[in-house]
Amino acid sequence: MKISIKLKFSLFLAALLLLVVFFLSLLVLQGIKSNQQNQYEQYLSQQAKTANTYFIQRILSEENKVPQTFLSAKGQEFARQLESISGQTLVLYDKQGKLISKKVTDTESDRIKHALDYALDNKTAYLVIEDSLYYLTPLIAGNEQLGVIQFYYSLSEHQSFYNNIRQLFIYIGAIVFFLSFLIGNIYFNAFASGIIKLDKMVDKIREGHYATTILKRRDEIGKLSQGIHAMSGQIQKTIQGLKEEEVKLTLAVNKLSQLDIQQKQFIGNVTHEFKTPLTSIKAYIDLLEMYPDDEALLQTAITNIKSETGRLYEMVDKVLQLSALEKYDFELKLEKLAVKQILETVINSLKGRMDKFGIKLSAELRDIYIEGDKDSLVIVLINLLDNAIKYNKTNGQIFVKTYELRYQVFIEIADTGIGIPEELVQKVFEPFYTVDKNRARENGGAGLGLSLVKKHTESMGGSVSLLNTGMEGTSFKITFPAITDEA
Ligand code: ADP
Repeated sequence: MKISIKLKFSLFLAALLLLVVFFLSLLVLQGIKSNQQNQYEQYLSQQAKTANTYFIQRILSEENKVPQTFLSAKGQEFARQLESISGQTLVLYDKQGKLISKKVTDTESDRIKHALDYALDNKTAYLVIEDSLYYLTPLIAGNEQLGVIQFYYSLSEHQSFYNNIRQLFIYIGAIVFFLSFLIGNIYFNAFASGIIKLDKMVDKIREGHYATTILKRRDEIGKLSQGIHAMSGQIQKTIQGLKEEEVKLTLAVNKLSQLDIQQKQFIGNVTHEFKTPLTSIKAYIDLLEMYPDDEALLQTAITNIKSETGRLYEMVDKVLQLSALEKYDFELKLEKLAVKQILETVINSLKGRMDKFGIKLSAELRDIYIEGDKDSLVIVLINLLDNAIKYNKTNGQIFVKTYELRYQVFIEIADTGIGIPEELVQKVFEPFYTVDKNRARENGGAGLGLSLVKKHTESMGGSVSLLNTGMEGTSFKITFPAITDEA
């Protein structure tokens, strides 16, 4: 069973005060008892003295002055007179312990007989039976003991006084106990409420709620609440940190497994893409071996082998570039690049191909500058413009636009070509991904161009995205941090 701290403290205080009252009452009652004893001892010894003096006076007033004779003749009368003088019931014994006066109280009990024997030896004895006190004192004349006077003294008044005081102490004890329990309860309430609050705080922390409050107290409880608050904050931070680490770790694991899959896919793709032109070349060589004199076959073989080796060469070149970009030690020769000039050069180099397909190019070029690697930028632009030609319609159009906005420069290359299906806009940046395998192959593409564009752009601190795509064509946007003309 759980006993609250408040109850424990209150009970402790009440018990402590009750103990104090108990010991105090013991002392007081003991004092009362010994005081009462002193009082009646003094009183009875005074009575004994008076009795003895009166006895001597009576003997002296007698003609026959022999005390024994007086006692045996007038013992009863003397006892009665003594009773009226002292106001005390008494019994008179002679020297042999024989009863002289009339029997008024119990003189037969063993204990009284025993006390009488003691008193006959010239000593004072008294004994208490219930609320009665029997005081036995020697009756003396001169130096001779002539008998014993036994006073009977009622203790009922003393006892009732003593009992009243004891009763009072019991009441006081009960009142002290209840009052101290009540006051203790009220006093410890404030103290215990702090502990209860701390207990609730700890429970909440255990359940994962870390919002705690600092109790405005200037005692140890207030200090403890500060400690709990600080600890809770620390736990929250640690757990938060652990969670963040967990998320990062999960992301890293996912990325690693994704990379692993991508790598396997990449190797699979490389093998597959390389195999196709090699198979075609091998087939022509086999045919030429079989028909070495077939002139038409020779011409077709030369054309096809030339185009396939060209494709292979281009593929090997791009794969090498991609793997070089994957390496950490790939070094960029960063310098200030005038984008406009580089674009114009690239456009010029592609003019022949554009004319071949009747494609018109309109450019709106501003003088913008970036910090980058010239070869990388050329690769990016060539690939994007080459795609804009390859996937354009006959007599289509290409728009090239460069501009600067809020410390960023933008290069937009748009075409009026076949477009890319909306759901594949992210896929096209993956190595070897082609929307239409046949069309890509016809154009000598193997799905590596856009991967190279992405990698090169990002290595120079830029980004590439597909702005629009669909039936009206495609438009790519490249973003780089701008550098000022003076830089
Ligand atoms: P590829 O060498 O085959 O052109 P890329 O990586 O450059 O490879 O392009 C991936 C695929 O994205 C292409 O096969 C093509 O289907 C599509 N694509 C790229 N650019 C364009 C464009 N301007 N218009 C339409 N489709 C494009």
